[in-house]
Amino acid sequence: MPVDEPTEVEFRSDVTVELVKHAASDADVIWAARVSTAGEKSLEEIRKDPERSKGLINYLMRDRHGSPFEHSSMTFYVHAPIFVFREFMRHRTFSFNEESGRYRKLRPVFYVPGPERKLVQVGKPGKYEFVDGTPEQHKLVTEATQEAYRQAYRAYLDMLDAGIAREVARTVLPVGMYSSMYATCNARSLMHFLSLRTRRDDARFPSFPQREIEMVAEKMEALWAELMPLTHEAFNAHGRVSP
Ligand SMILES: Cc1cc2nc3c(=O)[nH]c(=O)nc-3n(C[C@H](O)[C@H](O)[C@H](O)COP(=O)(O)OP(=O)(O)OC[C@H]3O[C@@H](n4cnc5c(N)ncnc54)[C@H](O)[C@@H]3O)c2cc1C
Repeated sequence: MPVDEPTEVEFRSDVTVELVKHAASDADVIWAARVSTAGEKSLEEIRKDPERSKGLINYLMRDRHGSPFEHSSMTFYVHAPIFVFREFMRHRTFSFNEESGRYRKLRPVFYVPGPERKLVQVGKPGKYEFVDGTPEQHKLVTEATQEAYRQAYRAYLDMLDAGIAREVARTVLPVGMYSSMYATCNARSLMHFLSLRTRRDDARFPSFPQREIEMVAEKMEALWAELMPLTHEAFNAHGRVSP
């Protein structure tokens, strides 16, 4: 009798990001900043003059007074390939919890680049671009990744069936496998992350992130922009630099 029934292998080309919990608004920035001059009256001041609030957020962003942007919290659920998590977890101002390959059988969900994913790198190291692949190259990538994933997952199941511990059997699984995590941050951390993990030609310091982590970043940014529209607007207006 197998340890676990074989599961259908699933291939995906997208990522999932959900906002599961938040305490984040433009007002959080305002009261934190206004305490400097209004002290105990800082909360009352928020409601007085929305235009002044917008002006204050712009000023804080422009002059890089960052700490008022730390009085917020957002928790995101992310389901993405492991290679994205490796890049993501370099961001030390986030808190993370990820599913365990020791305590659960890992589900066979694997990343296959979609048809819109640029496949070919051209130019010198440090100054290169990615361009579309040919239909033949896309076919090769799809077939090669799927075949490798199936083989790796089969080996994983064979080991589990033979009584090998999950923490040992997972050795064969590739970084294109999906994992899930919660990632919690404040608005300042998120802006720093977005400045590095999204590509915008009009950013003051353009970055060149891998497309897959950028897909996660774009979804996070859209969710955040709804919570803190003035802060998001000021972030864009001042070159997408974290204050
Ligand atoms: C396009 C791109 C390519 C990359 N390529 C590579 C690569 O080839 N190899 C590689 O190893 N990494 C690579 N990285 C990761 C990169 O080096 C950073 O680890 C990652 O971007 C996190 O940035 P950070 O340290 O500024 O952010 P966070 O860890 O989120 O820190 C935020 C800020 O807090 C401060 N801070 C945090 N911890 C410390 C500390 N210990 N000391 C002082 N200040 C601190 C710094 O001001 C920092 O900018 C790459 C990143 C990008 C965006």
